[in-house]
Amino acid sequence: MQQRIYLDANATTPVLPEVVAAMLPYFTVGSGNPSSAHQAGQRTRAAVERARNAVAKLLKASTKEIVFTSGGTEGDNLALMGVMQPWLHAGEPAHLITTQIEHHAVLYAAEALERRGVRVTYLAPNREGVIDPASLEDALTPQTKLISVMLANNETGAVQPVGKLARIAKSFNTEIVFHTDAVQAAGKLPLDLSGEFKNVDLLTISGHKMYAPQGTGVLFVRSGLHLTPLQYGGPQERQRRAGTENVPGIVALGRAAELAQVWLQADNNAAALGALRDRLEEGLLSAIPGTSVNGTTSHRAPNTTNLRFEGVDAESLLIALDMQGIAASFGAACQSGATEPSHVLVAMGLTPGEASGSLRLSLSRLTSSEEIDLALAIIPQVIARLRSLI
Ligand code: PLP
Repeated sequence: MQQRIYLDANATTPVLPEVVAAMLPYFTVGSGNPSSAHQAGQRTRAAVERARNAVAKLLKASTKEIVFTSGGTEGDNLALMGVMQPWLHAGEPAHLITTQIEHHAVLYAAEALERRGVRVTYLAPNREGVIDPASLEDALTPQTKLISVMLANNETGAVQPVGKLARIAKSFNTEIVFHTDAVQAAGKLPLDLSGEFKNVDLLTISGHKMYAPQGTGVLFVRSGLHLTPLQYGGPQERQRRAGTENVPGIVALGRAAELAQVWLQADNNAAALGALRDRLEEGLLSAIPGTSVNGTTSHRAPNTTNLRFEGVDAESLLIALDMQGIAASFGAACQSGATEPSHVLVAMGLTPGEASGSLRLSLSRLTSSEEIDLALAIIPQVIARLRSLI
């Protein structure tokens, strides 16, 4: 059978066997509702709180600051809508600052707020895909209520100077709320909400980008910050997110957070993953003429590379690679049936044609050196064949 090489970990990561093992008991006997007073309920309550503790440790936060959600999209929406909601009817102009390179979970929430009267500034990245702190300084106004800037970009891996941006925001006005979408950073880079990110008030993570199942996530909400909830119902999650908890999913995310912490604490893991990514990138750059890297190579998530191949349509490339057993992703999103060039790459200054010739390769902790060898053998051949057809 053909070996499958999975190089699309930024879309979703495999669920680790240890994570599956931790969650399985909560599907079967003894799995009560955590709000129930009986023993089965109390057992699941204890499991939810253990998971909360594990996530809090990973983020260097307090357990009270952890709100379990259904994933990154909900976390981002809860952050943006939850902060801006009171200003929609306050009778005074409110201003939100975000960037052109956010995931649609932030961008479309910002656009929805814009339709409701919020003024939104979308900061542009430089050619490297990085937001310049000076552009935030220029955009701040006395009406600015919220800033949302992602930590690691999902397409290029570029790490934004979030610690610095949050410091700039707070020194302009301590009342400004700072949110970061850390979906692509959690489990890959250390996240310290008591140190480097002590000025960050809200931080989103998603389970399925860190080896837990899809449909799980967390919004960190700094103590003292009030959020208007997105949904109404029970008092779960300290009234910040109503609804019976997804106990197996939460337990899984807790276990994934423990494993992420162990992985990040071992000095060489992130460096080894980065070295594997670099070997893939450098191998492709030297084997395939007309290839370049999109975005910064100096401060990136260690698993991501985004490459542009002259004269190649990435959609055809993706299909051809899939037939050869390689799963990757390309710099475009399918919207209403039409393929649009990536808004991130276009914001960085690539032409729509260049963006459509770009491929994202994202490794996981499970990617092996042998898989990279195979990818290095297959991808240049596939590209040569596609070019010969033009
Ligand atoms: N934010 C970023 C940066 C992402 O990459 C993603 C998913 O790709 C999301 C948010 C949405 O997360 P979820 O799929 O858990 O809703």
